[in-house]
Amino acid sequence: MSSSLYRQATFVLGAVQLSQLPPDMGWEVAFAGRSNAGKSSALNVITDQKVLARVSKSPGRTREINIFRLDEQRRLIDLPGYGYAKVPEEVRLRWQAFLEDYIQQRECLRGLIILMDIRHPLTDYDKQLLEWCVHFNMAAHILLTKADKLSRAGQLKTLREVTQELPKLGPSFSVQTFSSLNKSGLDAARAKLNEWFEV
Ligand code: GDP
Repeated sequence: MSSSLYRQATFVLGAVQLSQLPPDMGWEVAFAGRSNAGKSSALNVITDQKVLARVSKSPGRTREINIFRLDEQRRLIDLPGYGYAKVPEEVRLRWQAFLEDYIQQRECLRGLIILMDIRHPLTDYDKQLLEWCVHFNMAAHILLTKADKLSRAGQLKTLREVTQELPKLGPSFSVQTFSSLNKSGLDAARAKLNEWFEV
């Protein structure tokens, strides 16, 4: 498994508008998920860096798109967490429009890694994001995070339920369990990234 590509991730910039993103070339994979789903932790584990993405103390605070460069052509994108209840409606709508524009317009975007807490998968917000993916013909791979919080049997049960539900939601979705705590699912997650990054 080639993990060195991910280990060399470096922070490039935080963007608040699409116009601030690097030129639309090469390959990008974006990480999205409800606030507190474990996105920062997953990014840190995948890149094997302790504080690449700041593990949030206050969910929903970060409103920037964070860009991490892997090599000349490849980038990981950390999209702001969505669905945080305390965010004002206006901010939420603005963020939704931004996400939609990003998925629609970004040519180099190969797929979305969507993080969902294994104890609460496929919320309405998650389903909305998957609908946009279908609409804009974008692949998505779901990480059912914090898998360590459930027994092995509990993990498999939820994995089976989500696997059965996915074909009803769209044609190009896949799913796996993941834990940043014990690194289960790390190889599978990197394998999906390798596929999208064509490495
Ligand atoms: P984000 O808001 O989606 O970026 O989520 P964070 O990565 O900041 O994680 C939110 C909370 O969940 C933090 O308290 C993390 O320590 C915790 N967390 C994240 N991943 C895991 C995991 O795999 N297992 C467990 N048990 N806790 C996790």
